[in-house]
Amino acid sequence: GLSMHGATRETRSTCPYCGVGCGVIIESAGAQITGVRGDPDHPANFGRLCTKGSTLHLTATAAVTMQTRLLQPMRRAERGTAPAAITWDAALDTATAKFAQVIRDHGHDAVGFYISGQLLTEDYYVFNKLAKGLIGTNNIDTNSRLCMSSAVAGYKKTLGADAPPACYDDFNHAQCLFIVGSNTAWAHPILFRRIEDAKRANPAMKIVVVDPRRTDTCEIADLHLAIQPGTDVMLFHGLLHLMLREGWTRPDYIAAHTSGFDTLAARVRDCTPERVAQVCGIDARDLLETARLFATSAATLSLYCQGLNQSSSGTAKNATLINLHLATGQIGRPGAGPFSLTGQPNAMGGREVGGMANLLGAHRDLANPAHRAEVAALWGVADVPAAPGKTAVEMFQAAADGEVRALWIACTNPAQSMPDQATVRRALERCEFVVVQEAFATTATCAYADLLLPATTWGEKLGTVTNSERRISRVRQAVPAPGGARHDWSAVADFAQRLEAVLPPRSVTPLFPYALDAEAGAEAIWNEHRESTRGRDLDITGLSWPILDAQGPQQWPCPADTACGGNDNGNATALPAVRRQFGKARLYEDGVFPTPDGRARFYDVAYKPVAEAREPRYPLSLNTGRLRDQWHGMSRTGTLGRLFGHVPEPVVQMHPQDMVHRALRDGDLVQVASKRGAIVLPAQGSTDIGPGQSFIAMHWGEEALSGRSSAGERLAGVNTLSTPVFCPDSKQPELKHAAVQIAKAELP
Ligand code: SF4
Repeated sequence: GLSMHGATRETRSTCPYCGVGCGVIIESAGAQITGVRGDPDHPANFGRLCTKGSTLHLTATAAVTMQTRLLQPMRRAERGTAPAAITWDAALDTATAKFAQVIRDHGHDAVGFYISGQLLTEDYYVFNKLAKGLIGTNNIDTNSRLCMSSAVAGYKKTLGADAPPACYDDFNHAQCLFIVGSNTAWAHPILFRRIEDAKRANPAMKIVVVDPRRTDTCEIADLHLAIQPGTDVMLFHGLLHLMLREGWTRPDYIAAHTSGFDTLAARVRDCTPERVAQVCGIDARDLLETARLFATSAATLSLYCQGLNQSSSGTAKNATLINLHLATGQIGRPGAGPFSLTGQPNAMGGREVGGMANLLGAHRDLANPAHRAEVAALWGVADVPAAPGKTAVEMFQAAADGEVRALWIACTNPAQSMPDQATVRRALERCEFVVVQEAFATTATCAYADLLLPATTWGEKLGTVTNSERRISRVRQAVPAPGGARHDWSAVADFAQRLEAVLPPRSVTPLFPYALDAEAGAEAIWNEHRESTRGRDLDITGLSWPILDAQGPQQWPCPADTACGGNDNGNATALPAVRRQFGKARLYEDGVFPTPDGRARFYDVAYKPVAEAREPRYPLSLNTGRLRDQWHGMSRTGTLGRLFGHVPEPVVQMHPQDMVHRALRDGDLVQVASKRGAIVLPAQGSTDIGPGQSFIAMHWGEEALSGRSSAGERLAGVNTLSTPVFCPDSKQPELKHAAVQIAKAELP
């Protein structure tokens, strides 16, 4: 991964932004990152980068010049005062004493960890072992709960394991691409380039986009279904109804490889085209055409993301889309299958190590006693607690209620990104002790920290991440950690070692025996994770860091005892001959699924509308989403002027008809209010969204988008408005829909 060109050093690593997981080559001179370019040998991007990836070196430099980095541990003696620098030893001893005291006085479940899909697999692993193994609490969840948990639940309910069965190379084999709830063009730009290439090479490929908004992704669509927000399950049921009516299902596949079809078929009987067209707000002819393309194309690939996931019926949406693939046999072949896109760079790696409240390592389930016993044996602890842990929304609610008293937040900014900010801010205020482990001192959450721990970030970190197509890539360190910043895994393992010394013993041998100051420490953690995957669906016992170094990124599963590799795993067309692909490109090609009887299961569920219906007082739907050139809460992308060239400021978009109705013109300041609070921002008319709908980008927080809760507290950002209602299965909140009112702002 390393080479020198004159004074410039080159380091192969991975882009830290989205789940495409593009390979980058970092150019550095001494301690300075001087440039970045796409890695031509990385099988995600083959040398390309989008606007965010190609400016990584500039955002890294801007963080230095703008002094936005957190560079030393800081302790705040009192809330509301400025924090003062302290040593790492003092910081971790303070944290140890506080956490130990809360655990002693109030029990294991009085502490919680809220971590991030931005963390590396090794970071995630140590956090999970700390909570579930050492402390004995399952109160550990991640911002992936806001991102991917519905996809996880959807896969498990139908296919039996949380494993996207397709890969990027499938774009080159699909005859029909069904893109649902994903603005791929903006949120996964390099995949969109690959889709454009595939369409150019195969103009016969049909592309259907389902999205309430006409996004840039619709530019390449043959058909755009602008459904009403939240009606996806009705759409999918309606498509199945038509496939059955027209004889487009595959009874042979259904009989040989699935169970539960009959009850589902009975359910969709009354999802007639007329009813579906009316509920979804689309043309019945488009519905029929979509059913035909999906079912009868030689290979159909579905791509989906937050539009399905961030929903009070997120699991139902995911699973009922997968129903269509099973009913038509559009799975387990090149170009065919359901393919969820991960939002964050390592949401997938986090799932692999069980970094969520309901999961355990290597795709084990906390609710399964045998799985708990296996993990306890792997760690050498007596048990893993059975009591369910708190998921993201539940954890902050519990903190607001005084039930969770000490919180450790790493690499995420809940004081902007969580729904229902009034509750989240109350939780952070009420907590007795809040640790924030961060690379940037600028996030809104930092203001609530009793203890700030400086973390390394892109260009400085080392470890692994897994992208949307199950591909594990190395993240490598190009420059030394600045100031007192430490790798997340190292700081957390250090804390864990200290806590282990003061808590009643849980194991006979030390639980965190990793070298804290060496790359070997991270590799040892990864090796421990690898051992836990033996015999599981994501088995990676055939891989090692030396293999990743010598042969480049690899897909799982890749078990030690099967020769699934070779130079062609069906997904290596443009790689140099020296790069070998060992893992499995596609899953379920044999029609055998990781369920007890080997059959995939149809998911039978009724359509439910969005949780918060529009009503006379709140007559508009609010949708939230991403912009092309910004990332999350802008702690990195917000430092670079050129990334504001695309969209310079936050606006609320609404249909021109709704503008006229309110006597609004472009640029007028409006107040957008939900039951939970209100924000003020400029309005913008757009025919890209339908009447009765509105859209605000998720990125802006404190500086740009101030607001108030309904009780009058000062809040900021679009999550002042959003609802904490979540999907009962995945616990993922409905960030894609809230009912709002919009009116011209009364300015003082
Ligand atoms: Fe980075 Fe995603 Fe852009 Fe690739 S597509 S360069 S991973 S932000």
